[in-house]
Amino acid sequence: MTTDPSCLFCRIASGDLPSDRVLETEHVVAFRDIAPKAPTHVLVIPREHIPSLEGLEERHGETIGRLHVAAARIAREEGLEDGWRAVINVGADAGQTVFHVHLHLLGGRPLHWPPG
Ligand code: 5GP
Ligand code: ZN
Repeated sequence: MTTDPSCLFCRIASGDLPSDRVLETEHVVAFRDIAPKAPTHVLVIPREHIPSLEGLEERHGETIGRLHVAAARIAREEGLEDGWRAVINVGADAGQTVFHVHLHLLGGRPLHWPPG
């Protein structure tokens, strides 16, 4: 499994940097966003260093699927039965700032559509 010691989210996944964790499994780690955009704003990341959905390969499919499974579990635990959103920003135009793929789990308030 690839990791990058200079990557912020690899360092959070390894525990080298602190985070407010809500879930961790063999393959994924989830923690609260440092600048939350909703009452629940959790980032779900793979332990593996995958920079972005851009360039994703077939072999990454199971890992990316696991991000969604973890998000569904956290949403249940957070009591988001009225709805929630899973967002993955891809590239600069979409606002991706950390190049270790991450799923934003947002909920706890009405979410507008389309997003900005
Ligand atoms: P992006 O803009 O790449 O889709 O999302 C990156 C997210 O990571 C942002 O929502 C930002 O607030 C969050 N973030 C950046 N640095 C840290 C950090 O050190 N800790 C935590 N918990 N979140 C961070
Ligand atoms: Zn990384």
